[in-house]
Amino acid sequence: MPDSFADDNVFLKIVQREVPARILYQDEEVTAFQDANPVAPTHVLVVPNKPLRTLNDATPEDACLLGKMILTAQRLAGQLGIDQSGYRIVVNCNQHGGQTVYHLHLHLLGGRRMTWPPG
Ligand code: 5GP
Repeated sequence: MPDSFADDNVFLKIVQREVPARILYQDEEVTAFQDANPVAPTHVLVVPNKPLRTLNDATPEDACLLGKMILTAQRLAGQLGIDQSGYRIVVNCNQHGGQTVYHLHLHLLGGRRMTWPPG
């Protein structure tokens, strides 16, 4: 892992509690925190604690980790009261996917009706 990636990686710094964030959940594998610029009434990010740049960097060994990220979002959706009204889980990958922070993350979005298709 190049130092520049770790140095520039704000989500890794949030995981390590070096940068403040409203953390909703953390264990040894994943961290969930409020998005700093929410695009929905509920907008939570779920990240792996280990630095993976994009979804492209996940391997079969990360299958449990990816499942845990989704189940963490599902559980938080219940705790935040949006499970019955509904929610969307999004993973942006690279430029065309709209990724701006290069530490793999899942968006949990809810609290309003989502449009489809996305822009
Ligand atoms: P992406 O576009 O990469 O899929 O999503 C990155 C998300 O991270 C954006 O929704 C943006 O608002 C959020 N974000 C960027 N920097 C920070 C930060 O320092 N703290 C928090 N909590 N969210 C951030």
